[in-house]
Amino acid sequence: MDSREFRNAMGRFATGVTVITTNDGTDAHGMTANAFMSISLEPKLITISIDNHANMLKKIKASGQYAVNFLSDQQQDISMNFAGQKKKEGGVDFGSIQGVPVIKESLASVVCDVDQEIVVGDHTLFIGSVKDVKVTDGNPLTFYCGKYGDYRQKEYA
Ligand code: FAD
Ligand code: NAD
Repeated sequence: MDSREFRNAMGRFATGVTVITTNDGTDAHGMTANAFMSISLEPKLITISIDNHANMLKKIKASGQYAVNFLSDQQQDISMNFAGQKKKEGGVDFGSIQGVPVIKESLASVVCDVDQEIVVGDHTLFIGSVKDVKVTDGNPLTFYCGKYGDYRQKEYA
C-alpha cells in the first residue's frame, strides 16, 4: 500500500481541528493538529502526535508544557496559518493560561505538563497531564477527506 492510499483511508475518519501551542522561552509557537485523543479521567491525561521533523517537537521538549486549542468554525484562518497553508492577515493574538500561550476564542483550551514522551515510528506522542481548561460556546471546525467543513447536528424526532 502506498502512503497516498493510507492517507485517503485515514482522511475518511472525520475529526475536529486543534492548534497546539507552547512557549519556547521567548515566543509563542503554534501548530495545527488533528491527531488528538483524550485518554484517562483519573488521572486526567490527553495525547497528541507530532511529526519528528516538526519545529513543534523541539519546542515542547524544551518547555515541558503545551496547550491543545479546539477550533471553532470561525477559526479556519487560524488553522491554515498554523498549518503553514496561508498566513492570517493581522497575525494571531495569543492569550495565556498558567503561563502557556492559548488561542483566544477556541471552543476549549486544555493546558498540560508533559507526563510521557513516546517515539512511535515517524511521530512522537506527548502524553499530557491536564492542569487547567477553559471552555467557550460555539460550533466546531471539522476536517474530512483533506477538506475543512462545519458541523451540522441532526435532529431526531
Ligand atoms: P512551522 O512550520 O514552523 O509553523 C507552522 C506555521 O505556524 C508557520 O506558517 C508559522 O509561521 C506559523 N506560526 C508558528 N508560530 C506562530 C506565531 N507565534 N504567530 C504566528 N504564526 C505562527 N502534523 C502533525 O505532526 N500532527 C498532526 O496531528 C497534524 N495534524 C494536522 C491536521 C490538519 C487539519 C492539517 C492541515 C495539518 C496537520 N499537521 C499535523 C501538519 C502540521 O500542521 C504542519 O506540518 C505544520 O506546518 C508543522 O508545524 P511546525 O511545528 O513544523 O512549525
Ligand atoms: P491528507 O490527505 O494528507 O490527510 C488525511 C489524513 O491522513 C489525516 O487526517 C491523517 O489522519 C493522515 N495523515 C496525513 N499525513 C500524515 C502523516 N504525515 N502522518 C500520519 N498521518 C497522516 O490531508 P491533507 O489536506 O493533504 O493534509 C494537509 C497536510 O497536513 C499534509 O501535508 C499532511 O501530511 C499533514 N497532516 C499531517 C498529520 C500528521 O499526523 N502528521 C495529520 C493530518 C495532516
